[in-house]
Amino acid sequence: MAVPFYRHALPACYAERVASVLASPFLTSGPRCQEVETTLRRFFGVGSAKLTSSWTQGAVATLLALDIGPGDEVIVPAMTFAATANVVRQVGATPIFVDVDARTLLMDLTQAGQAVTTRTRAVIPVHLYGQMVDIPSLRAVIPESVKIIEDAAHCFEGTRDGRRPGQLGDAAIFSFYATKNVTCGEGGAVVTNDLALADALAQTVQHGMSASAARRFEGHTYRHWDIARLGTKANLPDLLAVLLEPQIAEIDLQLQIRERLCRRYEAALAGTPFKWPTIDADAVSARHLFPIHVPGGARDAVLNALGEAGIGATVNYRCVPALSLYRTAQAQLRYPISWHWGEGTLSLPLYPSLREDEQDEVIAALRRSIATTGLSGAEPAPIAF
Ligand SMILES: *Cc1c(COP(=O)(O)O)cnc(C)c1O
Repeated sequence: MAVPFYRHALPACYAERVASVLASPFLTSGPRCQEVETTLRRFFGVGSAKLTSSWTQGAVATLLALDIGPGDEVIVPAMTFAATANVVRQVGATPIFVDVDARTLLMDLTQAGQAVTTRTRAVIPVHLYGQMVDIPSLRAVIPESVKIIEDAAHCFEGTRDGRRPGQLGDAAIFSFYATKNVTCGEGGAVVTNDLALADALAQTVQHGMSASAARRFEGHTYRHWDIARLGTKANLPDLLAVLLEPQIAEIDLQLQIRERLCRRYEAALAGTPFKWPTIDADAVSARHLFPIHVPGGARDAVLNALGEAGIGATVNYRCVPALSLYRTAQAQLRYPISWHWGEGTLSLPLYPSLREDEQDEVIAALRRSIATTGLSGAEPAPIAF
């Protein structure tokens, strides 16, 4: 039986929601976006929420709204999806990488504090795999003037100490990309309690224009607009926004299913050579991915064995400074934990519609791979994950 890496759960009846937008005069960002933004403000307990066309565009718009650009430094973890660093480069600023904690794979907060210079304008902590970074502890090691922009692409429904993304940072950015826990194919959102940032963001998501398309035609008379600052084009159309509301309404139920599936993986893989990140007692992970670490340089052999068994698996992620664009000679020595995790990790299928018999098939294929790849006698990784 083949088990895909991912299967979306958007039912065919969502077509009616899209049809309702097609029957309205407004296709791009309009009343349906505003409804979802109200839902997001309530869900996250924040002052402002703005839907965007992706996490990436939301992040570029946020950096532009904060006037971060050439000459500025932004601290990012070395273990994340490359987008976290790319957006910093896109606005002309410099990403400064720091390593992650071997237990949680989250940004090492001590190293983040040590990486601060007079040029540092922001830190982008990543709530990797669904577990929130401890934002108050990050705040304690960086100056008040340095902004905290949470990469919450993996963490819509996760919490730490009962707080959600965006409540304690300066902004949190979500992704509604096809494989994320809440999705509309492509999309994202920026939430913030900083209303000055929210005002600037309203412009930077629309080329810097002083009035949105909906506002320009308010009252049926045309209003002139100005551009006082540079922006990007980051707004989400109503056609896609309309897919989000029902998923947000049932997110807690979906999280229970993800949690149960993760615990089944953990129980079945206990005692094998595989390791996975620890979730702190004060955190509720959104359980976006189930990554494991394969020791002994056997990751690719296990990936191949899973592929031959029809099991979809992928890699989240290789160490960003190991990628050609960011490659530094010292990457392996400077970011040892991100490096070794990135050389050994693979992600298993995890989604609410994954059936137990499918999951058992994944586990059986993994167990077989331990013998066929010679993993049982493998050297442990030089880092104790
Ligand atoms: C998916 C992802 C992004 C990018 O999201 P898009 O909506 O595809 O732009 C950024 N950061 C992390 C950690 C991600 O997983």
